[in-house]
Amino acid sequence: MRTLSHLIGGKAVAGESDRLGDVFDPNTGQVQARVRLASAADVAVAVENAKLAQPAWTQTNPQRRARVLFEFKRLLERDMTALAELLASEHGKVLSDAKGDIQRGLEVIEFACGIPHLLKGEYTRGAGPGIDVYSAREALGVVAGITPFNFPAMIPMWMVGPAIAAGNAFILKPSERTPSVTARLAELMLEAGLPPGILNLVNGDKVAVDAILDHPDIKAVSFVGSSDIAQAVYARATANGKRCQAMGGAKNHGIVLPDADLDQAVADIVGAAYGSAGERCMALPVVVAVGKSTARALRARLAEAAEGLRVGRSLDPDAHFGPVVSAQHRARIESYIDMAVREGAELVVDGRRLALQGHEGGFFIGPTLLDHVTPGMRSYHDEIFGPVLQLMRTDTLEEALALPTAHQYGNGVALFTRDGDAAREFCDRVEVGMVGVNVPIPVPVAYHSFGGWKRSGFGDLNQYGMDGVRFYTRQKIVTQRWPRAGAAVGSSFVIPTMN
Ligand code: NAD
Repeated sequence: MRTLSHLIGGKAVAGESDRLGDVFDPNTGQVQARVRLASAADVAVAVENAKLAQPAWTQTNPQRRARVLFEFKRLLERDMTALAELLASEHGKVLSDAKGDIQRGLEVIEFACGIPHLLKGEYTRGAGPGIDVYSAREALGVVAGITPFNFPAMIPMWMVGPAIAAGNAFILKPSERTPSVTARLAELMLEAGLPPGILNLVNGDKVAVDAILDHPDIKAVSFVGSSDIAQAVYARATANGKRCQAMGGAKNHGIVLPDADLDQAVADIVGAAYGSAGERCMALPVVVAVGKSTARALRARLAEAAEGLRVGRSLDPDAHFGPVVSAQHRARIESYIDMAVREGAELVVDGRRLALQGHEGGFFIGPTLLDHVTPGMRSYHDEIFGPVLQLMRTDTLEEALALPTAHQYGNGVALFTRDGDAAREFCDRVEVGMVGVNVPIPVPVAYHSFGGWKRSGFGDLNQYGMDGVRFYTRQKIVTQRWPRAGAAVGSSFVIPTMN
């Protein structure tokens, strides 16, 4: 059976730890590979390699660093199908969606190819007599990223692209549940010409994460995962004096006003709720119908659409979505459906205990629709992260707006309407980081930035876009004076002012 090693200093390294994790194929339920789980000593070796390589890399001019990313983009496009198949075989998402996962990461790489421009600072000539002021962005040194299972290509690229383009060396700790495609990406970076030691991949679990958080030579940590762990990572990293951004879980609402184009809204909501089996932090697991007739129409149409979905293997070209990532995760999702029913929700479409003929061992669960969900329910309060759509009802937009605003998570939200005034008011007042108007999954494009509010994000700089560049750099501001020969010399004991 295949065993995944670490990639340190440009080489596959087994490391000193003998702990291994199982990597499943969720389509069959079988273990398909093993992954090495690093010790703190293994992380320290990766950091040593990164420290040795980083000074020369940061002194390489930014255009040459960008050329490595241009070549990496070419290699990703060359290998797109093979990478997507590898990704789908561990995650369970369908092939077209796996390609989307890679493509969204690639778009951040394209953004990072502009690093010569993105690092440019500001300049003021003549701020005082003979005085010029300029600012420059400098790399931090060695930085690290810790990523979740659900976007094993996109999220590593969100972090690695801007960080290495800016001249840092990177320690990447991918999810131990979906490590293979991330490992291939790291190999492709080397093939693209990245010097050994600039991107080091360390596989592992909490032991490796804690070692990263405690290592004194790692200057910044980017984390994406569930909220409790994001919060703990943020607390520990910042207590250790590191810069940290930690993105967490989500419970995104789709609000449908009576004037919405219902055909479009239903099509959008079904795709966003059930795509990738709901295992996206920008999925739309809650739909809020405003007005009784909207609720009646939505319930009927959503039920019909959910019943018509095809659940299948990742490589089934007709499947709308595939299995979830693990047997434990499927059991957790089913327990939330049971809980919702106990809490008084009405089970309209039941996806529990779905056995796919010929693939009974796979971690499949069917589309589920719950109606009459209310704010007091724990099944509403918590993130379920499965193909479960919860329908809520309100009489007014005001009541609907209060739901995502009061929720513990504030990642994404979508409003479906034809009313520009209502949309503007909604965008101004909703307490959520990423807002869509007639856009079900408002993941910002690569040259904006991604980040949620409240328990969906800890830290104040978001992923990618200019925030990504800011996160992985620090600003230096130089005030310089070149006095003319013969200018008066003398001490001043007053703070310099512009008077
Ligand atoms: P997770 O929190 O279980 O794992 C994320 C990372 O943390 C992994 O690398 C894992 O090895 C590590 N980890 C796990 N347990 C740990 C512990 N006790 N201490 C330290 N590190 C630990 O998340 P997941 O299940 O892999 O991913 C799904 C979650 O990620 C969902 O909550 C989803 O909403 C969230 N997510 C958020 C975003 C975002 O940008 N806001 C994007 C994608 C996923």
